[in-house]
Amino acid sequence: MNKIILPKHVNAVKNAKNNLLYVSEVNFSDLPRIQEYAISNDDVLQVKINFFSKGTRNHHLTIEINGVFNIQCQRCNEYFSKTIEHSNTLKIVPQSQVVSIKEDEVEMNEENMLNLLDLIEDEIILEIGVFPYHPKDICNTITES
Ligand SMILES: [Zn+2]
Repeated sequence: MNKIILPKHVNAVKNAKNNLLYVSEVNFSDLPRIQEYAISNDDVLQVKINFFSKGTRNHHLTIEINGVFNIQCQRCNEYFSKTIEHSNTLKIVPQSQVVSIKEDEVEMNEENMLNLLDLIEDEIILEIGVFPYHPKDICNTITES
């Protein structure tokens, strides 16, 4: 199987104009914000990022992340597996000067570059939460009375 090493930064507008598709894998050791919850850095997620344009000025990307992630519940400290099947389409926007970006947008840096690992990490956090934990009904936390 061909494994493409994801470039850290890509020229998002150029990629969109060229309809570029990245198919790769990420390892949790590449994702510093999530790494602390992961049990094993050997867990691997499949990532697909497809850049595309609508017209000459509207650039977008679709990102798909799939895999199983073994994490530590931040509520009861037990380990559990979470299947991630995430897909999102984002509009690529220039770095904003004043306001924060919208939920369906991704911001480039001042050189019109996009950090792919940051993007992947943001999307995984959307899926698992900033503090990942079990679904409530199976969490082992004992409620104190
Ligand atoms: Zn739990």
